[in-house]
Amino acid sequence: MTRYIFITGGVVSSLGKGLLSASLGALLQARGYSVRLRKLDPYLNVDPGTMSPYQHGEVYVTDDGAETDLDLGHYERFTGVTSRQSDNITSGRIYQKIISKERKGDYLGGTVQVIPHVTDAIKEFALGEQDGIDFMLCEVGGTAGDIEAAPFMEAIRQLSIDLGRGRSIFCHLTLVPYLAAAGELKTKPTQHSVRDLRSIGIQPDILICRSEHPIPDSERRKMSLYCNVPETSVIPALDSSSIYAVPVSYHNEGLDTEVLKAFGLAHSQSPNLSRWEDITDRIENPEGEVTIAVVGKYTGLKDAYKSLNEAITHGGIANRVKVNIEWIESEVFEQDDAITQLDNVHAILVPGGFGKRGTEGKIAAARFARERKIPYFGICLGMQMATVEAARHLAGFNDAGSTEFEEHNNPVVGLITEWVRSDGSVEKRTEETDLGGTMRLGAYDAVLKEGSRVAEIYGKTKISERHRHRYEVNVGYVKKLEESGVLFSGMSPNGELPEIIEIPDHPWFVGVQYHPELKSKPFEPHPLFASFVKAAVAQSRLV
Ligand code: GLN
Repeated sequence: MTRYIFITGGVVSSLGKGLLSASLGALLQARGYSVRLRKLDPYLNVDPGTMSPYQHGEVYVTDDGAETDLDLGHYERFTGVTSRQSDNITSGRIYQKIISKERKGDYLGGTVQVIPHVTDAIKEFALGEQDGIDFMLCEVGGTAGDIEAAPFMEAIRQLSIDLGRGRSIFCHLTLVPYLAAAGELKTKPTQHSVRDLRSIGIQPDILICRSEHPIPDSERRKMSLYCNVPETSVIPALDSSSIYAVPVSYHNEGLDTEVLKAFGLAHSQSPNLSRWEDITDRIENPEGEVTIAVVGKYTGLKDAYKSLNEAITHGGIANRVKVNIEWIESEVFEQDDAITQLDNVHAILVPGGFGKRGTEGKIAAARFARERKIPYFGICLGMQMATVEAARHLAGFNDAGSTEFEEHNNPVVGLITEWVRSDGSVEKRTEETDLGGTMRLGAYDAVLKEGSRVAEIYGKTKISERHRHRYEVNVGYVKKLEESGVLFSGMSPNGELPEIIEIPDHPWFVGVQYHPELKSKPFEPHPLFASFVKAAVAQSRLV
């Protein structure tokens, strides 16, 4: 029997609902339960794939090729459970499905309405693919009271009735702000937010209260009384030193115990949190420090590189060092002398990205790393730009470039027009194809060259990694590039798509066409990130 935990947020957005859901998932696992986490997003985009990272942060990609909300990344990092397309739904996807059914005449002349048609579709999504797990955690995006979230709130209310007594609970995350002038914590916004929920028939079972100051018992009692929640189920959530310390803090505040109590399940035994304690210990007691420059385009918004940021932290955890990240806009390297900013960093990483702006700066950063023998890690666009750099300055194609930005005499990076899926089917694209959902997306196998650096790092020669790109290194240039010192150490199984480049005559220079950061976990750092940070540590001993 699968039990449902619905997670909503109130008062303001950005309180860390994703982190709460992921941490609760991890705590339930630590008590021996199996979990799956889902995100219900009320916005009208079919998926976040076409949204700017500035609007919505990173687009997370699943093995099965879905472009999803970045919270799914938190879920996977905290629980290790591989997310799927069926774990993220948006209003856009629901309406798209309903409207296409309506056009086909599937409603047999009936009037199509938010209740029951939209709410039924939401319920069907939430109930799908349970796979016999113990707990399904469903996080509703947005904030209680949002107009667009209303059908989702109604759907989870109905679900709690449909599932029957004891099969579901509601957790509500709110903010308890501190008014410095009054020197007081204020519970009124929480009371109002819960009143909003109760007016639509949802009574939270557990209140989680974000606060910058410890919440006195008197205020907990007040929220318990006014919000109709047992006092022990008012859980304080204070700011944490690291996101990986959050599961243990929530446990110390009684979150998992209250959840089990609310379901009437046994809760006297303590969960095994050693995994989380070890990670926190490694973060809090590092044995050294390194500085890595991330040369990108959306550096003003950290959420745009969420998984990357975490994967670098995981590389630090693996090596027991603190990694300081210097976020640098690549455009700055398009001016003379700016590149000297990279003189004192211990490694350089150029992440994924889209569009021409700043790409010459990325090429300059890759060149600097190659010539100065500073560890370099290029991911997706970062790999493509490193290849263009090598084509220009090692292989002699002075005018090499990517057709993503303009026509080139030497299109070293070009549009992928055809590729083979893992099931053997062939995907085709042209310049005219829609932008939404049409990239080479999700998990694809790659074959690594025996004896290469990457084969040694992975410890195997067959890997599967997640992709999200429309362009690729043109296989026609492989021979010339290899003659000039670049090794194509990873290729698609049919040998047609370059997946990895490396420069053997360099301390650590690797470019990958896929996104390894999406699969890294704090308790299982991705081997490439662990190895890259190790190379940064070696470099730090030289400078
Ligand atoms: N813009 C490049 C492409 O579409 C790289 C994409 C990426 O870095 N994710 O191929």
